[in-house]
Amino acid sequence: MSAEDSSGAESPRSFETRTSCPLCQEDLIIKWQGDEIPYFGEVMYISTSCCNCGFRFTDTMILAQKEPMRFELKVEGLEDLNARVIRSTSGTIRIPELGIDVEPGSVSDSYVTNIEGILQRVQSVVVTATGWVKDDDDAYARGLELQDQIEKAIAGDFPLTVIIEDPLGNSAIISEKVVSRKLSAEEAGDLHSGMVVFDVDTSQMEVDSSDKIQPIGNSYK
Ligand SMILES: [Zn+2]
Repeated sequence: MSAEDSSGAESPRSFETRTSCPLCQEDLIIKWQGDEIPYFGEVMYISTSCCNCGFRFTDTMILAQKEPMRFELKVEGLEDLNARVIRSTSGTIRIPELGIDVEPGSVSDSYVTNIEGILQRVQSVVVTATGWVKDDDDAYARGLELQDQIEKAIAGDFPLTVIIEDPLGNSAIISEKVVSRKLSAEEAGDLHSGMVVFDVDTSQMEVDSSDKIQPIGNSYK
C-alpha cells in the first residue's frame, strides 16, 4: 500500500485498487489505465484476473459520459467503416438490416475498434452460427446470405445501420455523422447489462445472475 508502487516509469494515470473476486471472494487487484481518445475524451481501461480461480475481467469506462446512451450511425461507404467504436461489456450492438443483436453475455468483452472491426467480429459469429444450422435449409441459406451482405458492407457496398446502446453509458460510436441520444429509463432497463457489472462508485464487481443471454443469430426467420 505504499505510494512508491505506482511511481517510476509507469504513467501517472495508471493505478491499482483492491476488491474481492466475485466468484471465489479471494483478494483481487484491479489495474486501471487511463487513455485519451482524440476528439472524444478520457477513457479508463480496467483489467483484473484472479490467481485463485482464474476469473478474468476487462472493461472500458468513458469518464465523460455516465448516462444510458444510444448511438446510431448510418454506414453508407468506406469512410464510415473507420468510425471509432468503444464497446464496453454492457454495450448491446444492433444491426437492424441484418437482424443481428450482439448482447452482453458470458462471452462479452470490451474493445475499442472501428465499424469495420465490428463487422468482422459479427462476420465470424455468423460463420460459426451458419455451421450450426447446416441441416436446416432455410436457416443455412439465410446464414450464407448474411455472410454475403456483411462482406459487401465491409467493402463499402452494402449500406446498413450500426446502433450501440449501453445502460451504463460506457459505449460509444465516434463520428461526425453519428446520432446520439439518452436512453429512457425504460429502454435502459430492457437492456442486458452483462454477466459481470463493474460499479464505478464502489469499485466492486457484481455477477449479474439474470439468465437472459440470447444466442447470437436468434433472429433467423
Ligand atoms: Zn477468484
